Amino acid sequence: MSDDVHAQVLILGSGPGGYTAAFRAADLGLDVVLVERYPSLGGVCLNVGCIPSKALLHVAKVIAEARATSDHGVSFATPEIDLDALRAWKDGVVERLTGGVSGLAKARKVQVLEGEGRFTGPHALEVGDRTVTFDHAVVATGSRAIELPGIPHDDERVMDSTDALELPDIPQRLLVVGGGFIGLEMACVYDALGAKVTVVELAAQLIPGCDPDLVKPLHERIAGRYEAIHLQAGVESVKAGENGLRVTYTGDIEDATFDAVIVAVGREPNGGALGLEAADVDVDDRGFVPVDERQRTNVDHIHAIGDVVGGPMLAHKATYEARIAAEVIAGHDVAFDARGIPAVAYTDPEVAWVGLTELQARERDIPHETATFPWQASGRALSMDAGEGLTKLLVDPQTRRVIGAGIVGANAGELIAETGLGLEMGANAQDLGLTIHAHPTLSETVAFAAEVAEGTITDLTPKRRSPQG
Ligand code: NAD
Repeated sequence: MSDDVHAQVLILGSGPGGYTAAFRAADLGLDVVLVERYPSLGGVCLNVGCIPSKALLHVAKVIAEARATSDHGVSFATPEIDLDALRAWKDGVVERLTGGVSGLAKARKVQVLEGEGRFTGPHALEVGDRTVTFDHAVVATGSRAIELPGIPHDDERVMDSTDALELPDIPQRLLVVGGGFIGLEMACVYDALGAKVTVVELAAQLIPGCDPDLVKPLHERIAGRYEAIHLQAGVESVKAGENGLRVTYTGDIEDATFDAVIVAVGREPNGGALGLEAADVDVDDRGFVPVDERQRTNVDHIHAIGDVVGGPMLAHKATYEARIAAEVIAGHDVAFDARGIPAVAYTDPEVAWVGLTELQARERDIPHETATFPWQASGRALSMDAGEGLTKLLVDPQTRRVIGAGIVGANAGELIAETGLGLEMGANAQDLGLTIHAHPTLSETVAFAAEVAEGTITDLTPKRRSPQG
């Protein structure tokens, strides 16, 4: 009996993009084969990314909050950290979710093949010694961490995000290279667990691309806790020695020795080694697979989604694209037309934005008004010791529609959802301001920012008067 398989839809890669495409296609009545090189479904996000990092960030938050309450008259003892138990808890969260995804695949009769897939033709993929032929395919192979030259990546004290999430131990002195999403989230975890953290970032601010007023409260908070934050600097070399990793920086910063280094300088797409040329699919020099608004590559029956197609490398962008790919394959008339993709740094405090940033609006000369509500005027924020936050809306001066939003502060990642919905629904500032928000909540700050935009704010002194009547 032949081991060969035929699929109406082949999905390569089982991250949030891949499994969503597989499940949506199956729900639309198509026969689906899902190919994954690792034994556990869920890709980077579930196994070694979003989920385990959030489990550790949760613990970091509890530690930070317990520490902060000593200023309010309640002191806890210094936490005792049992790394094995913490690791086991984090792994348990991951196992529940990856097990859940496998269960969902089984329930839908999605056939899962384990192995490294390689295209051998426009309708064929090789997985080990099996061949899968297909009518349609979706490439959802994600991305991998970029390695830096001059750094001994094979030394176990030099970690990427996957290694760092394994929590091998808590280094006394830790250098984080890259002040973006991963670098700052890992810094937050290791700081809470007791490491002395230094961050080195090439750009002039942390989280480059984010509006500076949103980054400032985060920068100020961590500058007070970490050993150092070096901006506009990089790492020239890391020399592995018995007593630590000797780091030389670019720029005018003194050499230093660390017990561990986490490298988080971005990710690169996994488009290069898939044999896509055998399927006549274009791949660019960097390994991205270009697609149109229906997620189609240059070959009509082969789609691509997620990190491998470029744009922000975010799981929620991948799942959105996955639905489009599956539905287009099933014959639906759908295309990518989202107005915003939220970005969230799950740091302490959190930073989130959606739609246009102020930086983009200025760069692109897009007419906009900015309305900012400082959390110093929010009763809920102050009662949570979270007064450093702010909520900001960008409004089109003509239509008064919300065209962007940014929030820094506790739960910013949750709070940004309301503005995302507003953006998708074409809400104007008045719609947000006249929506009754519960008091006292952090979500009120969205309505307050809208009132600032409309000149109707009563919780602050209004900058401009609203028209009478
Ligand atoms: P990133 O692009 O967010 O940050 C990388 C940072 O490294 C940038 O600030 C960059 O300026 C800096 N950098 C680059 N080269 C450097 C060098 N030689 N020395 C010092 N700094 C240098 O990338 P990341 O943090 O590695 O994350 C990778 C991807 O994963 C991102 O696309 C991100 O969107 C995604 N991600 C998102 C989340 C989230 O949404 N919360 C979390 C983790 C990862």
